[in-house]
Amino acid sequence: MSVACWLTINSWLLGERRLNKKTVRDVDVSGKRVLVRVDFNVPLSDDIVTDNSRIRAALPTVEYLINNGAKVILMSHLGRPKGVEDKFRLDPVAQELADLLGKEVNKADSTVGDEVKEAADKMKLGDVLLLENLRFNEGEKENDPGFAKQLADLADIYVNDAFGASHRAHASIVGVGNYLPAVAGFLLEKEVDTLTSILEDPKRPFVAILGGSKVSDKIGVIDSFLDIVDALLIGGGMCFTFLKAKGFEVGNSLLEEDKIDLCRQAIEKAEQKDIALYLPSDVVVAKEISPEAEAMVVGVNSIPEGWAGLDIGPDTISVYRGVINSAQTIFWNGPMGVFEIDQFSRGTEEIASAIAESGATSIVGGGDSIAALKKFRLEDKISFISTGGGASLELLEGRTLPGVEALMDKI
Ligand code: ADP
Ligand code: MG
Repeated sequence: MSVACWLTINSWLLGERRLNKKTVRDVDVSGKRVLVRVDFNVPLSDDIVTDNSRIRAALPTVEYLINNGAKVILMSHLGRPKGVEDKFRLDPVAQELADLLGKEVNKADSTVGDEVKEAADKMKLGDVLLLENLRFNEGEKENDPGFAKQLADLADIYVNDAFGASHRAHASIVGVGNYLPAVAGFLLEKEVDTLTSILEDPKRPFVAILGGSKVSDKIGVIDSFLDIVDALLIGGGMCFTFLKAKGFEVGNSLLEEDKIDLCRQAIEKAEQKDIALYLPSDVVVAKEISPEAEAMVVGVNSIPEGWAGLDIGPDTISVYRGVINSAQTIFWNGPMGVFEIDQFSRGTEEIASAIAESGATSIVGGGDSIAALKKFRLEDKISFISTGGGASLELLEGRTLPGVEALMDKI
């Protein structure tokens, strides 16, 4: 998609802007070396990028900078390397980016140092240089000022377009901004604008659907959602801590004992505020998480000892579908079951289809939820897919992301 077309869709979806920070539009990039933090943390298999969504999401900013005569220096992390590990090098990413841009991308073999400096000095207007994996250097995660300064010394302007990493106070996200004029890229802007706009003025009914494995990851957002949604549907592994809080026995299902009280408080808050908090009435149980395991549907009041709930059941699906159908705005994060295994995937597939068919404005965040959408070929039917799981949840909790805070204010 061209930048112009993409921007039109952006403003059509949003109406107005919420991000109160300067963006690439507010600085003169022509002839400048522009250091851009992107989130190219993509899945690889045998040195091939198996899902290039995150690279494609950064293209509007990269193409804008190229077309406006900047020298574009890109940096990203990939995976969780321990020091320098060849399998975490960014060469396959550079190749994929070059294919998408239809132009050469120069890939450096280190992140900072003489080789990189030389490569940066040689750049011509419109050139693209990709630095090596930021996490090869310990200074990245530690937000080490020395490392941030070395990165900053490569450029004249800093752009953060790595929404998916902006909840982390790392050197390339926060530190670099201390040394260079720091502005937002288009992806960061679009993510923040879209996610904050649903908090401010959602079309109602506004329904949130939360699942996934851990209550502890999501209890913060549950609490904030109880201030803004009309209904909250809970599924996935985290529903069992809620069910336990209601007095049900959950067998071997995922349970976070130390979060039972928080779940109880959430249930009480929903009652006080008259918000419909839905929990499953039936679940698919099995003795182990495997494609061959014997599985059966049981009511949540009769989960047998030694069995674990691995998906929501058919009655629950039908109730949840009804709520989703009546919604005008939907936010979904977290699969309803172990969707990676077919016999536990039906709940997630049905809920994803219901969202796709609802006609509501739909927003989906979370790595596994997006993987589920892809598996069921429903991505195209969602209004907005956030590239950041943790970052989107923190924003929806009402927190300010460190990577946003570090940017220059719009005056
Ligand atoms: P997201 O990445 O979308 O934020 P999470 O990472 O929180 O989602 O959770 C996704 C994981 O939760 C999936 O790998 C899925 O298999 C797992 N999961 C969902 N339901 C259950 C369950 N009932 N028991 C165990 N694991 C579950
Ligand atoms: Mg996940």
